[in-house]
Amino acid sequence: MLNILSIDSTVPPDLNQKVDRAQWAKLKQARFTCACCGYQSAPSESVLSGFMQVVNKEVLCAICASALQLQRPVRNLANHGFIIMASDLSQSEVTSLSREIGFAILSGDSARRERAETVFEQLLESEITHSDFQFLTEEEPQTCAEMAVGLTVISSLNRNEYAKYFKDLRYVPNFVAFSHIYEYWSKTSS
Ligand SMILES: [Zn+2]
Repeated sequence: MLNILSIDSTVPPDLNQKVDRAQWAKLKQARFTCACCGYQSAPSESVLSGFMQVVNKEVLCAICASALQLQRPVRNLANHGFIIMASDLSQSEVTSLSREIGFAILSGDSARRERAETVFEQLLESEITHSDFQFLTEEEPQTCAEMAVGLTVISSLNRNEYAKYFKDLRYVPNFVAFSHIYEYWSKTSS
């Protein structure tokens, strides 16, 4: 199961960073399929990675990878997503839902777009509030950047404590930051 707190700050900021031979082999072996949400992408000449990434030897889609790496900018944005409290949804489900919402918003079908936007708003209603995590940071830790700042402050917590406080937290990508990826995925997967 994905734990959004396993932060790896060594990964470069660009989601489509150069793919080296080892990563290419791994991506091909996994058939460009995300180990978390099961989404399958495809490479192209301009986007060799297909917006998939190798993280801790696993292939993950850009969304699931970002859930694992809150401190990493996406398209130079530090606040590229939201943190919600959702004990009844796994990260894999939140990722898939966010991607479907992204596809619907880009579809050009106004009724579909409207419904998708409503679902997106409902999803964000579970955004965590300052009082839930006041010990983390003085700012409202509802965005990735603030959450990541908060996490560095409490790095003294052990794994069990992390699990206790954060087991229900999920990452929801910001549509604007990911729209170019949704556009690519919706073209290549059809
Ligand atoms: Zn995924």
